[in-house]
Amino acid sequence: MDCIFCMIAEGKIPSTKVYEDDKILAFRDINPQAKVHVLVIPKAHIGSVDELKEENVDVVSHIFVTIPKIAKSLGLSSGYRVISNVGPDACQSVHHIHFHILGGEQLAEKMC
Ligand code: 5GP
Ligand code: ZN
Repeated sequence: MDCIFCMIAEGKIPSTKVYEDDKILAFRDINPQAKVHVLVIPKAHIGSVDELKEENVDVVSHIFVTIPKIAKSLGLSSGYRVISNVGPDACQSVHHIHFHILGGEQLAEKMC
């Protein structure tokens, strides 16, 4: 499958990793929109939140319990934002589910 995040998960495209285990990977966004901008992905391909099913939802729980650990390791002690864009209206540009962690500075009050 021609998916850049699958290729990043497989090590075929280089990335700046900040966390990895057998199920998930976190790496720095190539085009950061905040001082700290990290993407967290499952290694197994899921297109978006819209494509979650009971069979593959466990990895999302794992991502969410790991995000605070990643945030702590990145020094985000005064908060951060977690976002997942879904589909064209949300400007999802990579069709492999991912959660943005944004922080390291005061973020805008408005989210869109
Ligand atoms: P989306 O717009 O789908 O919510 O987010 C996709 C994100 O992936 C964007 O913030 C974009 O900068 C990032 N991105 C796209 N291609 C690459 C890449 O090859 N490497 C890394 N590290 N980030 C990427
Ligand atoms: Zn993929």
